[in-house]
Amino acid sequence: MFESIQGEGNVIGRPSIFVRMYGCNLTCSWCDTKYSWVGQERAKEGIDYARMSSKQILQEISEFDASLVTITGGEPLLQPVEHLIKSLVNAGYEVLIETNGTIKPSKELRKLVSIWSVSPKTSNAGFSIKYNLEWLQNVRDYYLKFVVVNPREDVKEILSFLQQRNIDHSKVILQPDGTNEDYVNALRDLMDFAKEELQLRVLPQLHRLVWGHKRAI
Ligand code: SF4
Repeated sequence: MFESIQGEGNVIGRPSIFVRMYGCNLTCSWCDTKYSWVGQERAKEGIDYARMSSKQILQEISEFDASLVTITGGEPLLQPVEHLIKSLVNAGYEVLIETNGTIKPSKELRKLVSIWSVSPKTSNAGFSIKYNLEWLQNVRDYYLKFVVVNPREDVKEILSFLQQRNIDHSKVILQPDGTNEDYVNALRDLMDFAKEELQLRVLPQLHRLVWGHKRAI
């Protein structure tokens, strides 16, 4: 857990408390938080992760000032987060969940969460997934974040993904691969491509621009 500035998506620039859940059900080649899942079959409590109750988490984050709590991972929906989210909302926090979109959240969770940041994976992650994102029609707010490695190929795939699901382009954000060592150049390539070829929004990861690959920033 840490407090910082949200570096991504529609809430970019907002102060936020981050709660990182351990473990993931995917293995994206360009994952920038591999420490949250690599070797998870052998993960040890107290070394790789800490088991905490909602009460303990709330107590710890009450030391921070932000009113927005970002629940991230790994894939946070692998954990039983419902009680925690309910406690956060009751305590007056606004909750954003960052998910890879492979796990459908319960009805109750959909009602509680203010913003869903969903990042579906395209083939540049190293695999292919059949996504069913119909549940997004019943949430309070959401946006889709796509990581682009090769603008020409990836954007074609993203556009077809959106078209098949009838997703409004205003809900979509493209961002360059955060593990690219030449991040600014990758961002420029993506922006050049976007302004000529399509009307999709491009955003950087603010924390990546400012602090590089550091953790908990
Ligand atoms: S879903 Fe997210 S946390 Fe999991 S491997 Fe992919 S990028 Fe990493």
